[in-house]
This record gives sequence, structure tokens and C-alpha cells, in this order.
Amino acid sequence: MNQLPSSCQGKDVFERMNFLYQASQSVINKNLALASHYNSLMIGCAKKAVLRMEPGIKRTMCKACQSPLVPGKTARVRLVSKPVKAVKWTCLACGSSRKFPTKEGYRLWWDQPEAVRCVFDYTPKPQKESFKSGIESSASTSKQEIEIVDSSKKKKNVDKSSTPGPS
Ligand SMILES: [Zn+2]
Repeated sequence: MNQLPSSCQGKDVFERMNFLYQASQSVINKNLALASHYNSLMIGCAKKAVLRMEPGIKRTMCKACQSPLVPGKTARVRLVSKPVKAVKWTCLACGSSRKFPTKEGYRLWWDQPEAVRCVFDYTPKPQKESFKSGIESSASTSKQEIEIVDSSKKKKNVDKSSTPGPS
């Protein structure tokens, strides 16, 4: 049927978005305007490359001013019962609010196991393996040296055996 992709599409853009998100989270306490600027850059990256953001990350940003929403600091979080039960997030920077319905038993499509089609593992290899491979490579070089020594001995033997032949 549909073949699974061999590599992650838009991996470099995802890496850039990851960096921008972490940068915005790190400057929340120092400069809120800079944090919202980083977030808007990240949203621009996602829009240009047509990549989707995880809802959990998307919900930590104001949709109007892109400032990071931290409960008690940059956002006011209240439970609302009318017209539907929901969690209301109000941005304290621009005053815009969003509601996330809290229906019992409801899960986002993203959180369901069917949403995961394939997983790419880009974690760097641990240093122990590289150390082992280094040992192996050194062992292999010593083996090669041994082989070279053996072959030279053989050659000498061959020379010795060949010299008495014609004489
Ligand atoms: Zn806002």
C-alpha cells in the first residue's frame, strides 16, 4: 500500500523550530517580547514548510500575540462550565482568550496510538559504542600487522624454497 518514508520530511525545519521554542522558553522571565518574537518565528517556519505543531506545544502560545502562556505569570487559567465545560486560557499580554473543551473520555487525535505512523530515531549514539569501535579498530590494525608479518615470513619461506629449486 503506502510506503513509509525512509527519513523525516522537513527534519531541518523541525530542528530550527525546536531551537526557537527552547529559546523562547528560556527568555520568558527576562524578555517577554523576545520570547513572543521567537514563537512567531517558529510559527512562520511551520507555515512556510507546511509542518504541523504538536497541540501540546501549540497550546502554550497565545494565538493572537504569540507570547508564551505560563499559568499565573503570563496567562490566567479558569474552569468554565457554560456553554460547555472547558478550560479558559486568557493571555495577560493582549487579553485574548481560548477555550479547550474538557469532554470526559475525549482524547486528541494526536494522543491516540493510531496517529503514530512511524518513529524516526535520531538520537546520537552513546560514546561507549564509539569507544568500543575504537578498540576494535585498534585490534583490527594489530591483526593486519600480524598478517603482514606472517606474509613476510611466508615470502621468506617461498624465497628460500624457490632459491634451491633452480640451483
Ligand atoms: Zn496574547
